[in-house]
Amino acid sequence: MAELVSPAGTLPHIPDDLTLVQFALDAEHVRKPVRKSGSTWIIDDQSGRKIGLEELQARTYGLANALSIRYNIQEDDVVLIYSPNHVDYLVAVWAAHRLGAAMSGANPLYTVDELVYQINAVQAAVIFTHPDSLEVALSSAHAAGVSADRVILFDVEGADTKQKVTVQGLVTQGLASTPNFTERKLAPGEGKTKVAFLNFSSGTTGRPKAVAIPHYAPIANIIQLATHHRVGEDYDGQRFKPGGICCGVLPLFHIYGLVVSSHYVFFCGMAVVLTPKFNFLEFLESIVRHRMTNLVLVPPQIIMLCKHPAVKDYDLSHVQYITSGAAPLSREVMEQLVQTFPNAAIGQSYGTTESCTVITTWAVDKKRDLTGSAGQLLPGIIGRVEKPDGTLADFDEPGELVVKTQSLALGYANDEKATKETFVNGWLRTGDEVKMNRKGEIVVLDRLKEMLKVRGFQVAPAELEGCILDHPDVTDTCVVGIEDDYSGELPLAFVVLRPTVAKRVEENPRAVDDIKASIMKHVADNKVAYKKLAGGVELIDVIPKNPSGKLLRRVLRAKARDMRTKPKAKL
Ligand code: AMP
Repeated sequence: MAELVSPAGTLPHIPDDLTLVQFALDAEHVRKPVRKSGSTWIIDDQSGRKIGLEELQARTYGLANALSIRYNIQEDDVVLIYSPNHVDYLVAVWAAHRLGAAMSGANPLYTVDELVYQINAVQAAVIFTHPDSLEVALSSAHAAGVSADRVILFDVEGADTKQKVTVQGLVTQGLASTPNFTERKLAPGEGKTKVAFLNFSSGTTGRPKAVAIPHYAPIANIIQLATHHRVGEDYDGQRFKPGGICCGVLPLFHIYGLVVSSHYVFFCGMAVVLTPKFNFLEFLESIVRHRMTNLVLVPPQIIMLCKHPAVKDYDLSHVQYITSGAAPLSREVMEQLVQTFPNAAIGQSYGTTESCTVITTWAVDKKRDLTGSAGQLLPGIIGRVEKPDGTLADFDEPGELVVKTQSLALGYANDEKATKETFVNGWLRTGDEVKMNRKGEIVVLDRLKEMLKVRGFQVAPAELEGCILDHPDVTDTCVVGIEDDYSGELPLAFVVLRPTVAKRVEENPRAVDDIKASIMKHVADNKVAYKKLAGGVELIDVIPKNPSGKLLRRVLRAKARDMRTKPKAKL
């Protein structure tokens, strides 16, 4: 029966009385074996500026003090960050944590609607942003009733920050002022309930929701990963070695970037090169310029490494480790990757926001895993595979992956119903269909939940359906994903037109294209670019529903798949 305690190792103690910042920056014992003092932690990809622990500690303290003085930020407030990666991004996270506040990261390309939704959902007290995102940040803050002086700018060379509150200004003020706050040590066990992050995920169904992640969860996941990888041991297959350099192209507003390609990298005694905006050719330059050793990526970036003709012009032999996560990647692509990186350890990782990141990564006794497997359960994790009737599947038999992990989130903030459906007696229903073998290795077969993944980003069909229903010509809709080689999936909308509009189309079939274009434009105007209906719009007479009115999404997913495989003319 497919229920298994991970055979990948036994977990050491996980501190439950530390905040993440105390674990990451202060807890000398956890870093001593691997890190030389004075070493670099963060490298700014653009300027090459290097920042070490002492500077990060000072900036974090200064910012925390100023946030306390100027905005009275305190226990359980929420600091929202609406910005691409920036060298002070984590300083803002850690400053919030020093004050007992939580952080919620938002995609810096969000539209006003999307950002207002998040500001309201988490009741943000202040908003950190980047000059490029300032306009939307200010409009959103205004719409959500947050005053403009609570919008704080990260400093960017050449940007006009006059008359704005900037992080540098606050750091300077905080360092020059007498201490206005006393950092609290958590009570034993409190780390398991005190919220560190409110990251957004749609989970199995519905609109994006704030996942309440306690401090203990990322700390546990870092220790699980380090135990799996035998960090600090004299082990020649070491994947994350002190002194190594990891890319930081994954956004810090997503849990994958926030936990793996930053905090975990620091824990291993390595540095991260933070890149604000991903551009493939610049990325190649940057891998070489910084002599990166570790690449933590999502499938479209891996596909570019396999297929882009420019790759052959670069000597990438210093890369020792590459992992792909956040969405499926085929065995064929993995095999191609080995042609470019014949000496690197290569494999996949799988995780979710709700599990505060990684659940599986490939077994440490294999240099590479090119089988298409998403990897092996991390130490301490119990995995079970359940069939639709709730019974346990056999090993290698399909079913939903349900896991128990030390890194589990608390649930969805202010959404008891969704929490109860997904977090069941300490187990997480992942909503992913997998097969698991006796070594705890999984293959992800399908997604049972509604969520789509476009280039590794979540797209919640319910959110797009709400937006499409605002279009004056539409009376009903259902959004599904269609497969795409590069993006993984693309959203496609089945749409029922209002009777008067449908009649107009009947009389003039040429109007169809205009109506479809108008619906696509409506979504593109209101949502961030990766949510647009790049899979198209299909008109349909009625959206199939069960007797209680629930959308039969699977029927339309099958129809979409069918349409793709049949030549257009036969539709
Ligand atoms: P997120 O919460 O945004 O990290 O999304 C989590 C979802 O991404 C999972 O439930 C999976 O559906 C998908 N996912 C993550 N990693 C993988 C992987 N290696 N292979 C297939 N799907 C993945």
